[in-house]
Amino acid sequence: MAPLQEIKRNLQRHLEVIVGERNPFTTPEKMDAVGHYIADQFDEWGLSPVTLPVLFDELESFNVQAKLPGENPESPVILIGAHYDSVPDCPGADDNASAVAALLEIARQLSVHPPTGPVILAGFALEEYGFVGSQFWADSAVKNDDLPAGMIALEMLGYTDKRPGVQKYPPGVSASQYPDTGDFIAVVGNTDSIELVKSLTTGMKHSAPNLGVETLVVPGNGELIQDVRRSDHVPFWTAGIPAVMVTDTADFRNPNYHKPTDTLDTLDLDFLTEVTMALTGFFQDS
Ligand SMILES: [Zn+2]
Repeated sequence: MAPLQEIKRNLQRHLEVIVGERNPFTTPEKMDAVGHYIADQFDEWGLSPVTLPVLFDELESFNVQAKLPGENPESPVILIGAHYDSVPDCPGADDNASAVAALLEIARQLSVHPPTGPVILAGFALEEYGFVGSQFWADSAVKNDDLPAGMIALEMLGYTDKRPGVQKYPPGVSASQYPDTGDFIAVVGNTDSIELVKSLTTGMKHSAPNLGVETLVVPGNGELIQDVRRSDHVPFWTAGIPAVMVTDTADFRNPNYHKPTDTLDTLDLDFLTEVTMALTGFFQDS
């Protein structure tokens, strides 16, 4: 594992490039530039990125991805992805530059110290318009009979608030079973992904023992708790493969959610560093 300070420096560098309104309608140049930045970084680390068109109304956008074969190329494939678009009038530092920066740093580390099995890393377009990019990805995989064995969606990874009482929970989640301080990362799965939730959580805790990791497994596809159906894992739940969301819990913690105040200076980079280390270690050890 790379030293913490090196991971943190790399995250900061990515965030300085990515943060800023990245909306396909209001700031398409910036959104495109960030998509290409992801591809260029993958390319720099020798990961042979590809861009995949995503169509939405009159708009053409793209997902970008790279695949690492890992030490055992015949092992099951895991897809890990983060959306790189933002809503209008929002610099999207936590949502979702934090996760894109983590995705890039995970990619860089896996290019140096390979994962145990094959990993596909993806930047998804247009999550904010109903998971359009990840839905395209899942639809195409279904059509080609090429779904991964598991999927990890990174949705907001960089905000903490350690004051007691600040952490909220969606209706249907028993708050008394969880911390009331907003300083943990959450792994959210469904019935089909119980094993992935367990292995990911174990791997993350092992690689980052100081990081608080909380898990939530919802029945079925989360129909009873609609708030868990708000990111790029959902198309994969629908396709019937194990998929989880890793998140700082979005607006259940972060008051800047979808606002102009979702800025780089509000992020907890030490926390984001720990989360990145945890996820990297999961791929290298499991
Ligand atoms: Zn988001």
